[in-house]
Amino acid sequence: MINGSFKLFRLFGIDVFLHWSWFVIAIFLIPQFGKGTFTGPGNTPIYWSALLYVTLFVIVLIHEFGHALACRSVGGQARHIVLWPLGGVAFVQPPHRPGAHLWSIVAGPLVNVMLIPVTIIAYFLVSGSLMLPDLASSNLEKFAFYVMALNFMLLIFNMLPVYPLDGGQTLLALLWFVIGRVKALKVVSIIGLTAAGFVLLFSIVTTDMWYIILSLFVGMQAWNGYRLAKTLAKMDPRLYDERIAKQAEQDNVEQRIVEEIDPWRQ
Ligand SMILES: [Zn+2]
Repeated sequence: MINGSFKLFRLFGIDVFLHWSWFVIAIFLIPQFGKGTFTGPGNTPIYWSALLYVTLFVIVLIHEFGHALACRSVGGQARHIVLWPLGGVAFVQPPHRPGAHLWSIVAGPLVNVMLIPVTIIAYFLVSGSLMLPDLASSNLEKFAFYVMALNFMLLIFNMLPVYPLDGGQTLLALLWFVIGRVKALKVVSIIGLTAAGFVLLFSIVTTDMWYIILSLFVGMQAWNGYRLAKTLAKMDPRLYDERIAKQAEQDNVEQRIVEEIDPWRQ
């Protein structure tokens, strides 16, 4: 048990943990997840909803392994992956090179890109066509359709250029090539803060609890990024990795370079 997470298994030398709060949130979300989607006598819809919910996290887990294995392939460290209600976190530390960071980041979304044809073929195999499911569709067809849709939405959402999402981290690595790590971090964290501010305003107006949580989370991470950039600016670049690792120990979530948040909860 580490910080409320317990170990599920170990694969490729990477420990996979699940946070206890996942179960609490799952109990609340699973009934809503399949509401009005899965139907039929005999089959309780909740069974399909639960299966879809777990499948979402399996996709997130494969995505995290993409980050972790890519990071290791460029000489970085990949310690463990934690699944929690907002998605997954791969605790990785790539070497201090923009190319190494870039590859460690884009390998995650690349997994979802590779899953696009896989999920399309799976949907075609169960439904016999690529038409949208309708009322007459079986639960299996609907399930296959939603897996395909969820994977695609995860990809789109993660690639938004908002730090600390993968898209924002990709932008960070690209800017790093041009203006250096510290300035790049400053720029993307300001973009993250701005985006979080807009979403927060919008979600307060619409009293959308999920977006309030999401914007606070993004805003907090972006703020930490901004503070880190200011600290690093005063330091010798050779000490960056040490400083970043130290902050990671303090903040626990700081070191993670990847954050998956699924956009499906409203
Ligand atoms: Zn990711």
